[in-house]
Amino acid sequence: MYLLETKDLKVHFPMKNDKKVVIKAVDGVSFQIPEGKTFGLVGESGCGKSTTARAIIRLYEPASGEILFQGKNIANLKGKELKEHRRNVQMVFQDPYASLNPRMTVNQTIMDPMKIYGTGTKDEMQKRVYELMELVGLDKRFAKRYPHEFSGGQRQRIGIARALALNPRLVILDEPVSALDVSVQSQILNLLKDLQRELNLTYLFISHNLSVVDYMCENIAVMYLGHVVEQASREELFREPKHPYTQALLSAIPSIGHQLTGEEKFLTGDIPSPANPPSGCAFHTRCPYATDRCRQEAPVRTQVSGTHTVFCHLQDK
Ligand code: SF4
Repeated sequence: MYLLETKDLKVHFPMKNDKKVVIKAVDGVSFQIPEGKTFGLVGESGCGKSTTARAIIRLYEPASGEILFQGKNIANLKGKELKEHRRNVQMVFQDPYASLNPRMTVNQTIMDPMKIYGTGTKDEMQKRVYELMELVGLDKRFAKRYPHEFSGGQRQRIGIARALALNPRLVILDEPVSALDVSVQSQILNLLKDLQRELNLTYLFISHNLSVVDYMCENIAVMYLGHVVEQASREELFREPKHPYTQALLSAIPSIGHQLTGEEKFLTGDIPSPANPPSGCAFHTRCPYATDRCRQEAPVRTQVSGTHTVFCHLQDK
């Protein structure tokens, strides 16, 4: 059984100034995350990856579809059951500057979720705060300091400690290093890997940076305009990308093992608005191989191999 599975998940929002127009931010996303593994969701900004994550933690209400967590559909949970779900699924945000309350000390920040869930006596919670600080590489003498007294990397360590306070099963990492200096990024990524090994954590890793995803993830889904367009193990996706969008993303980073041949098709143009998506294949306005069929007919899922799937007419012959 997978720890998390989404089935045809849709998250739609009405347009602010015209409620009749619906933005299909996530439009039929299905993937599975085995326990103890890291699953990457990649794509350009606005493709729906963060919205998918927020639906999984139920900050957004799904329009339809299923979110199976440990086999149970949590898409429509309410009240106590929803609170329990949020204890099991925690999130680390992109911006450690904005995600920490500047008026709370490190001690208060890490203890806060434990207080909300009433996980022990004051002494027990204090002991746990110190344990968590040690776990993420923060000196416990810093417990009474405020976020502004720390560097970006240290603040992200505080955010990670807070996310681990309730012993979650799944941690959603939403661009966890993209706001950090390059020199600090690898330290945080290595910390996340060590914590995963030590605590048997499962990660949903969201990033626009394929080099980082290559380093962190076992399986990857590529998203475009609210859809997963390709899904595979890391090895297969990087060795043999099938979707023209994945190929274009990979072509932009030759360091990932793709020697440039001069025949790469780089991405041009902007992502169309999800309020007015293109007909047929959503990628056809940017795809160098688009045909009339692509403009009229949405591609269906094609199984390339055991774990490799793609949505493209070039593959469904
Ligand atoms: Fe390109 Fe057509 Fe494949 Fe879409 S279905 S990715 S437009 S070739």
